[in-house]
Amino acid sequence: MAQAIGAGMTIVTRFAPSPTGRLHVGNIRTALHNWMLAKQAGGRFLLRIDDTDAERSREDYVEAIRADLAWLGIAPDGEERQSAQLARYDAAFAKLQAEGRVYPCYETQQELELKRKIRLGRGLPPIYDRGALELDDAGRAAKEAEGIAPHWRFKLDHDAPITWEDGVRGTQKFDPAQLSDPVIRRADGSWLYMLPSAVDDLEMGITHVLRGEDHVSNTAVQIQMFDALIAAADTQQSIPRFAHEALLVGKEGKLSKRLGSLGCDALRDRGIEPQAIVALLARLGTSLPVEPIADRGALLDTFDLSTFGRAPAKFDDTELERINAALVHQMEFEAVSDRLPAGMDAAGWHAIRPNLAHVAEAGEWWRLVTGPIDSREFSEEDRAYLAEAVRQLGWGEDPWRALTSALKESTGRKGKALFLPLRQALTGMDHGPDMGELLPLIGEARARERLEAAARA
Ligand code: GLU
Repeated sequence: MAQAIGAGMTIVTRFAPSPTGRLHVGNIRTALHNWMLAKQAGGRFLLRIDDTDAERSREDYVEAIRADLAWLGIAPDGEERQSAQLARYDAAFAKLQAEGRVYPCYETQQELELKRKIRLGRGLPPIYDRGALELDDAGRAAKEAEGIAPHWRFKLDHDAPITWEDGVRGTQKFDPAQLSDPVIRRADGSWLYMLPSAVDDLEMGITHVLRGEDHVSNTAVQIQMFDALIAAADTQQSIPRFAHEALLVGKEGKLSKRLGSLGCDALRDRGIEPQAIVALLARLGTSLPVEPIADRGALLDTFDLSTFGRAPAKFDDTELERINAALVHQMEFEAVSDRLPAGMDAAGWHAIRPNLAHVAEAGEWWRLVTGPIDSREFSEEDRAYLAEAVRQLGWGEDPWRALTSALKESTGRKGKALFLPLRQALTGMDHGPDMGELLPLIGEARARERLEAAARA
């Protein structure tokens, strides 16, 4: 799709969540890809809150969506809310009604379910049979006299085959006669997703609609809505291009509940950096390698819908952790300083960060500097060796190097026998940060004290 963009066209994309829950990896991915598609081309990325379902939409979710996007660094260039555009949908509805493209229906849920079963039983596709179109004025009046308020369907044009060039899936073709006329408005006047979305995409000048492949059949129907709306509009509007990406699935191969509930908040609480989520989701399901890339520009440069595969993208938590750790190891002190233990400076951060999977673990490692450290038991031989270390300890430019060279010389020890008792005595641990970086942070007084304590133990 990116390659087919006309010269001079400003790309406008949108992310259109319904505020009925927190963002999770699936919709973060959609938001991110729309942001990338726009930003890569110097275009605009809009946030559209799809809150026509007043019962299920919640204001705290709207706020959480904004906060999560901000945390991820996916900044919208504008925001719109469907609940503020109801007049727009009424006007569009009236136009479609005037064109004979919407019609009232009176079936109950049970009646529809029964019709569906009968069609399935006869081996027919379970689509709406357009029964309501059989009603004449008197028939409709009779229904209303019974107190049944109509719901409304959009009438597909069965003579206009639907086709589009999908940015991920290639040429798509649908026979409208094989699709149900979608319900667009409920009996209480409230809106279903289909029409408001198409109306807004036109009004907001959306040039590219990029969403999950669960929307493919919606797109087929919406293409006819777009055409009908454009035909009825006075202004010049054009139908967006479409791309549908393969769904995200868990490692086990299906969209697990766990994955759906892998919310932005849970990831943040777990110590996952926004850069890690972005680096992973930017390339997951594409032919490009998933790498710990913190630089958004580099990710934007390589973003290309033609690299997107048709197979479901597999989300693997261990991969996210791997990317996260690699990015933490690259993070600069300034970027994390407000999350580090008091007193930890840039040198401390640099010494400790290679050991971290998550920034929050810095405190545990910093304790190796500030103490108290775990006391260890040493053999008599090692205690003598550590006593020698106390005698050799000096404090120059590179105290670790000086100490180990002197000890090598005076004791003849090398390798593990040379280094491990020192590390254990100085940190209480068998492994950890580079001692050359750590020892200056521990400082001479504490180092001497720890070596003396170990030599006595
Ligand atoms: N609110 C719709 C959803 O969350 C938007 C779909 C679309 O991108 O058009 O599924």
